[in-house]
Amino acid sequence: MGKLLVTGGAGFIGSNFVHHVVRHTDHTVTVLDKLTYAGNRASLAGLPPARVRLVVGDIADAAVVDPLTAETDAVVHFAAESHNDNSLHDPRPFVDTNLVGTYTLLEAARRHDVRFHHISTDEVYGDLALDDPTRFTESTPYNPSSPYSSTKAGSDLLVRAWVRSFGLRATISNCSNNYGPFQHVEKFIPRQITNVLRGLRPKLYGAGVNVRDWIHADDHSSAVLRILDRGEIGETYLIGADGERDNRSVVELILELMGLPVDAYDLVPDRPGHDLRYRENEAWWGPEKDGVEAFYARTGR
Ligand code: NAD
Repeated sequence: MGKLLVTGGAGFIGSNFVHHVVRHTDHTVTVLDKLTYAGNRASLAGLPPARVRLVVGDIADAAVVDPLTAETDAVVHFAAESHNDNSLHDPRPFVDTNLVGTYTLLEAARRHDVRFHHISTDEVYGDLALDDPTRFTESTPYNPSSPYSSTKAGSDLLVRAWVRSFGLRATISNCSNNYGPFQHVEKFIPRQITNVLRGLRPKLYGAGVNVRDWIHADDHSSAVLRILDRGEIGETYLIGADGERDNRSVVELILELMGLPVDAYDLVPDRPGHDLRYRENEAWWGPEKDGVEAFYARTGR
């Protein structure tokens, strides 16, 4: 049995990971989370207090990070500013959290010789042409395009340097797009679902031809646990699900699963006529929805 410090454990993937750890291991978990707009205590509701505790704090604050790291066996680092659109409007929090925050954690892990796993994204590799058969590999050169992905790329390089310069026992994983419970309504899949539930027509950028590999957050969690257990120090692991779909087919699938015509995103200008079954957990996503749509309306998306 071990003690894990999970940063960003009240966010989407972090909270799924905490639930996964409680279900599948005997580890105890301390979640360190600043509870930004993206963090939500409710995502940890119902977990046994003897196994999981939440500390509200900033990963860039060494006074908070250091004692928590000292008492842990491994740090699993999910905390990040994670939304591309936000990074185009205000990059500063991305630098503070993704770069300075990661640096602060690395220094604490080095001081206390603690195992470190860094969660990153395949967006550090940039994008491929739609007809390009190539796949990203661990040695694909980094080519990030947004302040979000560039700060994630920078944080990956910090981790690699701490391994090589200081012998930190660290691993990195770069995962493709996640879906699953507890995902903020600003993100693509929950936004489309909650739009439909509110009677709004799903919106697609660029005719929906963008292709993403989609993986369930629970599958991401099991891969991270496997790396923590058996990963080779200094290695980078790519996590994906062979689940490539363009955005258009994702929206069509959502409409189909919600009992609507698959072309309803294109042709239905007003509230779809079907009686809709409400997605569970509106108490969880409802309060965020109006703010997210006001932001998208201001930025024209
Ligand atoms: P999220 O935005 O849902 O959650 C981030 C969490 O970090 C929130 O709970 C937030 O409160 C917390 N946080 C932010 N700044 C903090 C700070 N300074 N100190 C402490 N806590 C802070 O993000 P997510 O989608 O769950 O992503 C988690 C990680 O996985 C990120 O590192 C992201 O880059 C990576 N990732 C995400 C995806 C995806 O599809 N969402 C894919 C691959 C990798």
